[in-house]
Amino acid sequence: MFAIWGHEKAAEITYYGLHALQHRGQDGAGIVVNNGKELKLRKDVGLVNEVFNQINFQQLDGHAAIGNIHYATNNESSHVQPHLFQSQVDSMAITHIGNIINAESIRGDLEKSGSIFQTKTATELLAHLMKRSGQKLTEHALMEALQKLVGAYAFIVLQEDKMLVALDPRGIRPLSIGKLGEAYVISSETCAFDMIGAKYVREVIPGELMIIDASGLRSMPFTSREQRKLCAMEYVYFSRPDSDLNHVNVHASRKRMGIELAKEASVDADVVIGVPDSSISAAIGYAEYTGLPYELGLIKNRYVGRTFIAPSQQLREQGVKMKLSPVRGIVSGKRVIMIDDSIIRGTTCKRIVNMLLEAGATEVHVRIASPPATNPCYYGIDMSTKEELMAANHAVHEICHLIGATSLAYLSSAGMEKAIVQDITNAQGVCQACFTGQYPVKDERFMQITQTT
Ligand code: 5GP
Ligand code: SF4
Ligand code: MG
Repeated sequence: MFAIWGHEKAAEITYYGLHALQHRGQDGAGIVVNNGKELKLRKDVGLVNEVFNQINFQQLDGHAAIGNIHYATNNESSHVQPHLFQSQVDSMAITHIGNIINAESIRGDLEKSGSIFQTKTATELLAHLMKRSGQKLTEHALMEALQKLVGAYAFIVLQEDKMLVALDPRGIRPLSIGKLGEAYVISSETCAFDMIGAKYVREVIPGELMIIDASGLRSMPFTSREQRKLCAMEYVYFSRPDSDLNHVNVHASRKRMGIELAKEASVDADVVIGVPDSSISAAIGYAEYTGLPYELGLIKNRYVGRTFIAPSQQLREQGVKMKLSPVRGIVSGKRVIMIDDSIIRGTTCKRIVNMLLEAGATEVHVRIASPPATNPCYYGIDMSTKEELMAANHAVHEICHLIGATSLAYLSSAGMEKAIVQDITNAQGVCQACFTGQYPVKDERFMQITQTT
């Protein structure tokens, strides 16, 4: 998510902001702009520069805008955000990330009392709850609606005269505030601030509701604030290395994960390599700690996009080969330590090990810079079901055999937490539920789901 308030080129800046966040999803993009009289929406499936390619930003003039990168397995264009809701009196655009665990039970209750939904999106759910509250002020309506939601979420609501920003009580998803001149900017990751030249101001606080309008920024808690549980997977894989999430730089945390991994699971070898791009930082840390040379043993072809891989199953199978190539001169005849950030289904990892062996590596020791992923995420990261998670169904020695590695070891959950939280003074907790099964947010229905999975 990206948003800006108080800048004459709001839509254009949001476009650049979304560009910086493109790694968070490739399924669609959208912007709603506000010119003070009306809200205008443009969105579609595709990458940011496909959706906004020919757009003349003069048609999207306005001083405030909100935008979203769509990330889903479901490519329905109706799910691409933001969503724009028009009523006789006013209009309102909403964008959201995360997942509402009790969405179905709330939707059920609303349907019983006469609501009809077009989508299963959290944005539509929130709009209904807000309208039903009967509150005159949007911030009061939003506050009442948020108090009914259980889950991991961040919402941005845009109206002609104000913008509202809210983060769940545990701050499971990252969200930061910056300033570009006098304009306020909001972004899921700080890398978007750097891209547009904005200055980082602070994190959105868990349980905080911010109101930004002509008179500036005000803030109030909409519920009691819980201990922060920022998603560990954001640091492991999801975010960009140049982003700081809750004051912790992503690259630096990954490097420390590599160092912790080296402390926990070192092995005799000749070179350390990382799987581009997300494992490079951890590989550098691992090599630095062990004193082994860090090498570029795998090269990524930057021009293999998802669209190129998608058209047929055969191509998809070929995907890894087209995307990654071993550097024969580096790995041939060598005992290789291959660092990867995570194993989810294990298919990529297996192919890469095989590729390295084919290129002449005598041993391939796989070291994973996060713990075994054993549980699905219910907080908005579309990882997999339990059936598909390799570590949910196999012990480490079995996985080692299945991926064809000489040896395999994972970082411990304590090691990962240490790597993430160590350099901030007021220690934050992180969510590690997909690694440990300890879910920080639960409700009754959710307990039933976890028991049956
Ligand atoms: P696998 O070896 O399990 O087939 O693929 C795991 C790799 O895919 C990871 O190293 C990571 O770089 C990448 N990946 C793609 N999508 C995701 C995701 O949603 N979560 C995680 N943890 N890794 C992902
Ligand atoms: Fe992140 Fe895993 Fe927690 Fe989901 S379960 S929020 S992916 S750490
Ligand atoms: Mg990877």
